[in-house]
Amino acid sequence: MKLNNRVKKILTGKICPYCGRPSMLTDSAEVYHGRSYGPIYICRPCDAYVGCHKGTTKALGRLANAELRYWKNQAHAAFDKLWKGKTKVMDRTTCYKFLSKKMEIPSKYTHIGMFKGESCKRVIEICNTLLLNLGKI
Ligand SMILES: [Zn+2]
Repeated sequence: MKLNNRVKKILTGKICPYCGRPSMLTDSAEVYHGRSYGPIYICRPCDAYVGCHKGTTKALGRLANAELRYWKNQAHAAFDKLWKGKTKVMDRTTCYKFLSKKMEIPSKYTHIGMFKGESCKRVIEICNTLLLNLGKI
């Protein structure tokens, strides 16, 4: 799967997926009421942002507006259940491989941070279905 430059810039937080303008790198204190959790890429007119990998200015994925942030959080919560705590069924790497296969997306692009709302909803469905089938929830 070859992605064009524009898509790459969206998935790496450089371009806002909502308005197409370049994002800005700023501190997360701006969106977390003065508490800093490191740098973020932001598009202020769209109220969209994304955090960075710890200790870097490498975005975790695409910029997300309030609705997508909600679905990303839900997807992460559902996904984490597969490899964490009482409901753990496999290790994290295997989880990502499983998800990549189920969603028919190459591993490289199977990151919740890169997903749109619809894909986040699929993650939730896939994870919950597996846990239900295994009698974990
Ligand atoms: Zn924007």
